Amino acid sequence: MATPLSDELFSRASAVIPGGVNSPVRAFGSVGGTPRFFTRARGAHAWDEDGNEFIDLVQSWGPLPLGHAHPAVLAAARSALQAGSTFGAPTRGEAELAERIVDAVPSIEQVRLVSSGTEAAMSAVRLARGATGRAKILKFDGHYHGHSDALLAAAGSGVATLGIPGSPGVTPGAASDTIVLPWNDPDAVDAAIAEHADELAAIICEPIPANMNLVPPAPGFLQHLRDVATSTGALLIFDEVISGFRVGRGGAQAAYDIHADLTVLGKAIGGGFPLAAFGGRADVMAELAPVGPVYQAGTLSGNPVAVAAGIAQLDLLDPPTYRTLSDITAHVVEAISQPLRDAGVGVTCRRVRTLAGLLFANDAPMDRSGVAAADHDRYGAFFHAMLANGIYLAPSGWEVLFTCTALTEDDVAAIGRAAERAAEHIAGAVSFPDA
Ligand code: PLP
Repeated sequence: MATPLSDELFSRASAVIPGGVNSPVRAFGSVGGTPRFFTRARGAHAWDEDGNEFIDLVQSWGPLPLGHAHPAVLAAARSALQAGSTFGAPTRGEAELAERIVDAVPSIEQVRLVSSGTEAAMSAVRLARGATGRAKILKFDGHYHGHSDALLAAAGSGVATLGIPGSPGVTPGAASDTIVLPWNDPDAVDAAIAEHADELAAIICEPIPANMNLVPPAPGFLQHLRDVATSTGALLIFDEVISGFRVGRGGAQAAYDIHADLTVLGKAIGGGFPLAAFGGRADVMAELAPVGPVYQAGTLSGNPVAVAAGIAQLDLLDPPTYRTLSDITAHVVEAISQPLRDAGVGVTCRRVRTLAGLLFANDAPMDRSGVAAADHDRYGAFFHAMLANGIYLAPSGWEVLFTCTALTEDDVAAIGRAAERAAEHIAGAVSFPDA
């Protein structure tokens, strides 16, 4: 597959943008090679500068459960744009989107719109600290909550992909109130609580962790977090930037029937535009300015174009659509994993409804260290073999698959044929440590 234009653009971009990209995972650092520069995308398909076509299983990392450039979402955004791109004053759309979120997510009584998941998670943590008058945050190793200082400790895929533990530039002071524990380990939680119960402002987690490949919660673990938060007076924050409006309208908390005090949303709520949110209990949200003393603000917060696109997308995400997406995801997982198994490659595929992860490991890990032990070099070889066969997977084995309802049976068959060729290629080319 010839890529001269992507190659040329990558070298131009690298001269003026660090690493040539505006978000690290796009640089192909973990799998090697030159990133493809995209020109357009529609439904499940995307095209690069050189005219190569892909079936896109990244889908901009989650905002597009209906696929790229959905006509209803584009029409809504276009129409909003005609009326003006931003006002810095409240709009009807903001109330209408907030109403939809409150209606869909069981524990959200009030919600504030912001522009990125990072901003939403950072603001939720500030609010939790302000509302409880406590400082410490408990998070889990491998969970990503954006790149704000307090949350950038042991933070999952992007950081893991780059091999940076936390990040230089995060001061010890900023991280010192962050406790990091292994995921799915109730004893570790109990030990931390025994030591810090009175200082704990919040327990934050991805209820379906999807930034260290996919490592679902062990049975009872989310309930344990809920119980511990309630008994210590800490707030339970679910970061549903990925799982929100993807595993179902009510996100992971509806799927597992565990309610958070605060929830962080992003990606799917913006229909492909910069939009995120945090919301939760009305008494906690009342601590936010202008009602309460906890400050938070944004020039482009609740941007009318993003809000219109978000509303249009959420209105199409009904239960039958989620069932369709879940079935499609199951078929995609099967199409990729069966050829690998047939070729004798040790592979683990996990799926929670519409979210799935593909890991070159014989056993399904329950925490980040298990994901680290998987064969990420082999993922890189598989990634490139799939790319050469027209399938764009995430350029890192730490990520998950993002499917969309635009994937057709023909697409799934094409994914299966590519996986057969890629499986043959990697079965011979790379040795697996445990095989
Ligand atoms: N939280 C989770 C669970 C995420 O997956 C991400 C981004 O991938 C974020 C927060 C940060 O969102 P954003 O990239 O919009 O800042």
